[in-house]
Amino acid sequence: ADDKINKVIRKIETINLQLIKVSESLKIPKIQPYFGVTKWEPGKKVEEAYGEANFAKNRIKERKDVLYQIYSQADTERIVEEKQMEDNFYRDLNDNHFEIWYQPKYAPKTNKLVGAEGLVRWRRENNEIIPPSKFIPLFERNGMIKALDEYVFREVCTHQRRWLDEGKKIVPISINLSRASLYFESVVKRYHDIARRIGIYTHFVPIEITESAAVDNDEIKSIADKFHGNGFPLLVDDFGSGYSSLATLNMKCFDTLKIDKSLIDYIGDSNGERLLVHTIALAKELGICVTAEGVESQEQVEFLKNIDCDSIQGFYYSKPLPLTEYEMLLD
Ligand code: C2E
Ligand code: CA
Ligand code: CA
Repeated sequence: ADDKINKVIRKIETINLQLIKVSESLKIPKIQPYFGVTKWEPGKKVEEAYGEANFAKNRIKERKDVLYQIYSQADTERIVEEKQMEDNFYRDLNDNHFEIWYQPKYAPKTNKLVGAEGLVRWRRENNEIIPPSKFIPLFERNGMIKALDEYVFREVCTHQRRWLDEGKKIVPISINLSRASLYFESVVKRYHDIARRIGIYTHFVPIEITESAAVDNDEIKSIADKFHGNGFPLLVDDFGSGYSSLATLNMKCFDTLKIDKSLIDYIGDSNGERLLVHTIALAKELGICVTAEGVESQEQVEFLKNIDCDSIQGFYYSKPLPLTEYEMLLD
């Protein structure tokens, strides 16, 4: 079967070359063809095969860098799945089918709870829980993330308020803001007003922004000033997983660095450890707090404790917990 596909691809490339020659000899702009390819087996209807090839072709229509696309069943399934998620989103948001789970952050020096992060989960009709990796990228592409991030923020404020009313001692719970949520007018005022209406000081709901969402220096600086002006602490999420790490530190926009798991996994390797030691020292010298993410082992905890890391979030201490389990941790 691979042989046949290769033959088709060679044919497509030949056609493409001939088209280039034609446009050159006629002195007209380059003709840009694109092809959809699918397998045909005896018994498959022509219409069906045509539909598949057409579907494959349509996926590359907007692109200038690919000549052909081979149809795959998995692609259709994914697209059908994404369509369903889009169709169900607003209804499920209204019906509270999105849940916030809480992953605690601990100070390694005292082993005390010092904070948490709110992480969204989608509970489907059949009670199955969908992790954010399945839907956040889609909602970031189609803009629905704005509504979801705001919902999560509102829920976290509401829970924090309820625990206060019950006489519990709360700790700051950070929430995530995707790029699309970050760059809309009046985002800061909107979030501030929500917190005020619910009755929660903004320093109890810090904002996590990924390093890659913060690449536009000037813009991020002005947004950061607004968040700070309204009392929101700011965390750089996934620090060290991107490419702009030192520039991010230098912007002086952030209160806390969240060191990405990929850097934590260097512990045990001597060069990697030196990188961590110096990164954390530099951050602290600049007056920035440090949280380590994705910490799974005792060895990592010991290392981080010795270099004065302020807090640790990871499976070593706890996985993200559903609401009722998290609230049992509060005094
Ligand atoms: P993140 O913000 O980096 O969140 C940390 C993720 O690492 C969580 O996955 C958490 O379960 C996982 N994790 C924590 N400790 C460990 C560990 O020790 N080992 C390993 N292997 N993993 C660990 P989760 O909950 O699946 O979230 C994935 C991502 O989805 C988050 O990454 C965040 O970028 C995004 N996300 C979650 N909730 C929201 C939300 O409300 N809004 C937005 N915009 N994004 C969200
Ligand atoms: Ca985060
Ligand atoms: Ca992270």
